[in-house]
Amino acid sequence: LISRKKKQSDTIIKIKNQSIGGSEKALIFGPCSIESYEQMEQVAKKLNSLGIKFIRGGAFKPRTSPYSFQGLGIEGLKIMGEICNKHDLISFVEVMDQEQLDIACDYVDIVQIGARNMQNFSLLKKVGKINKPVFLKRGLSATIEEFKMSAEYIIANGNPNIILCERGIRTYEQATRNTLDLSAVPILKNETHLPVIVDISHSAGRKDIMDSLARASLAAGADGIMAEIHPNPLIALSDAGQQLDFEEFMTLYKHIQHY
Ligand code: PEP
Ligand code: MN
Repeated sequence: LISRKKKQSDTIIKIKNQSIGGSEKALIFGPCSIESYEQMEQVAKKLNSLGIKFIRGGAFKPRTSPYSFQGLGIEGLKIMGEICNKHDLISFVEVMDQEQLDIACDYVDIVQIGARNMQNFSLLKKVGKINKPVFLKRGLSATIEEFKMSAEYIIANGNPNIILCERGIRTYEQATRNTLDLSAVPILKNETHLPVIVDISHSAGRKDIMDSLARASLAAGADGIMAEIHPNPLIALSDAGQQLDFEEFMTLYKHIQHY
């Protein structure tokens, strides 16, 4: 059902007067984790000043270590909900299980399925039944075919509003956290009718090459970019090394705003 052969025209996700897919490039920025109301308020004000409508932030964090910050949970969802109402923004928040999904649906605009859950088939079936767009990230070591089949689970269960996200895959290369598979962008654009976004933060895991990755992704046909920004990355509770401060964010923004 996600195949171009089934539907020639691009799927455009419409939400609150905004769209993802089609002619406009979607820019999705925000911290790795929702840490406090003040932090989210600062991010929201920054995005508003630039006319950016999409904000990200995790409330339930899939951390490698159980001793790392796990996210604020429901408290984080509430902060995101309030911030989006106040600043007229559209949120992307990850859920890792059914229980989180049920609660998140009350506070969140777009439900993210993270890389680690790309093949959680029961969760994919559940998000197939919700009435909100799903932001599906490619698994850490998933082939493009497996990624497409995961999207197929969602659409086959009734939800056609799917956004695909390439976020880098695990390879032998150590210079970056993951290897951005740029080929996936035109392949997914050609073979499916769904919007494709590139997460340049988790792809690279380093700030110094994000401008290049953003421009390359957009040039390859991506429908937008996701990146992590934080008012003070040095004290971020997760992914401190890859989140852009507002000055770095402005430099990136200037490089990509004309695409
Ligand atoms: C995230 O976007 O917060 C995240 C954890 O990304 P990924 O699932 O791609 O690792
Ligand atoms: Mn992160």
